[in-house]
Amino acid sequence: MAAIETGRPVIPLYIQTEAPSSRRQGAASRWWLHHSLESLSKDLNAIGGKLIMRVGDPASVLATMCKSARADAVYVSKGYEPQMDAQDLSLANQMGQVGIQWKSFPGHLLWEPETIRNKSGKPFQVFTPFWKSASQSLKPITPLPVPTHWPAPVVWPKSDSLSKCNYLPSTHWDQGFSTVWAPGEQGAHENLKRFAGQKFDSYQVERDFPAIEGTSRLSAHLHFGEITPNQILHECLQVGVQAGKSSLSVIQSTFMREIGWREFAHHLLIHFPSTTERPLRPEFESFPWRKDSEMLAAWQKGQTGYPIVDAGMRELWATGWMHNRVRMIVGSFLVKHLLMDWKEGERWFWNTLVDADLANNTMGWQWIAGCGADAAPYFRIFNPITQSEKFAGNGNYVRRWIPELKDLADAHLHAPWKASASTLEGAGIILGKSYPNPVVNHMIARETALDAYQRMRSTKKK
Ligand SMILES: Cc1cc2nc3c(=O)[nH]c(=O)nc-3n(C[C@H](O)[C@H](O)[C@H](O)COP(=O)(O)OP(=O)(O)OC[C@H]3O[C@@H](n4cnc5c(N)ncnc54)[C@H](O)[C@@H]3O)c2cc1C
Repeated sequence: MAAIETGRPVIPLYIQTEAPSSRRQGAASRWWLHHSLESLSKDLNAIGGKLIMRVGDPASVLATMCKSARADAVYVSKGYEPQMDAQDLSLANQMGQVGIQWKSFPGHLLWEPETIRNKSGKPFQVFTPFWKSASQSLKPITPLPVPTHWPAPVVWPKSDSLSKCNYLPSTHWDQGFSTVWAPGEQGAHENLKRFAGQKFDSYQVERDFPAIEGTSRLSAHLHFGEITPNQILHECLQVGVQAGKSSLSVIQSTFMREIGWREFAHHLLIHFPSTTERPLRPEFESFPWRKDSEMLAAWQKGQTGYPIVDAGMRELWATGWMHNRVRMIVGSFLVKHLLMDWKEGERWFWNTLVDADLANNTMGWQWIAGCGADAAPYFRIFNPITQSEKFAGNGNYVRRWIPELKDLADAHLHAPWKASASTLEGAGIILGKSYPNPVVNHMIARETALDAYQRMRSTKKK
């Protein structure tokens, strides 16, 4: 909009780069990105614009493009990952040297992460005071309208084709994704309207039950900038105020608090950039993680013998998404029951989540492992059986993703190995054949994990 307001022609440009210093997008994210760009391209065409795509080094693509189009400024939406930040800075310098202005705009977050500080001027490491301090100044800005006409140049520059970016997987792994997701701005806003109108009020109660579609499913839309947190806040406020709620109660709602966790994750990533690779709490550097590729593969494929864990991992593989409650259960299972390094889980999620996000994923895994900011203490070990009974008690979620257990009664569904031989036979299950035996014993795994934790702590004291 800022570029359009100059009254000069505007060329929408997307550059695909594989800068060696940046983390390559995961496979599921690339699927989303492909369809998101396709959708953006269509939206631009509809108002007389055109998305120009180029594969190459951003600095040279920009320099060539600016020269041939006689452009005098580049307008960008600011990136909030440390490497993006560094890249923006370097591009701004390079453009500056050839007399091209660099105009960078916020929007991806509600606050600039550097601006939120505690009383001693340091970054927050605990969520509640962060949110208390930040949300006090939260004022929604009226979102800008979508432009109705595009100020096109007389001649459009040539564009590479989207297929040159090579974003789609070579197998049919992504087959199920398009039945669940509609990447692009329209899909994002439809989701938001449905959520704000029908689900916002019940969110606090329903958000923990994976069989219910009780959450917004906006994470990938947010990650790819198809919607902004300000637009979400604005819509929730409008719907809420119309229904007689106060603005304060909307801002302080459980849902906006979750949007706040996303802000907190970006705050942490900017202030502690090494956490993508290393634990925030240094004592965890010496944690005796286990290496076991078979165990890891069982977890990745949803073959651990713990139904709630397997259901989650299969949902992830089939749809590129997993419910938050189940992310916590499978994460805890990997780092505590299987004693595997949280980075193994982080990498798998990175590759298979359509909403894979450096800030949220890093914080989520460090939270699970107990080594991050405001993290669950390591000794809080999720029990996959009681979690399943509590949050997936009616069995719908497990039956949906593990059809081989569909005929097992609810009472046995969460721990099938405890069922009698005749019950299993009646449900057509042969443990170890049609469905795996549990890869670890819950109680023994729990004790082993606590032991490993104690050893790490005593090493620290020495
Ligand atoms: C181990 C682990 C890994 C995770 N990895 C990611 C990731 O790569 N990308 C990602 O977007 N989220 C991640 N999360 C956070 C959370 O699970 C997802 O944001 C959420 O499930 C997305 O569904 P939703 O949009 O329906 O969420 P809603 O419940 O509707 O929440 C609305 C929005 O708030 C934000 N949000 C919600 N919960 C969290 C949270 N715990 N931390 C940070 N932001 C949150 C998301 O942007 C989300 O879209 C992870 C959580 C865990 C435990």
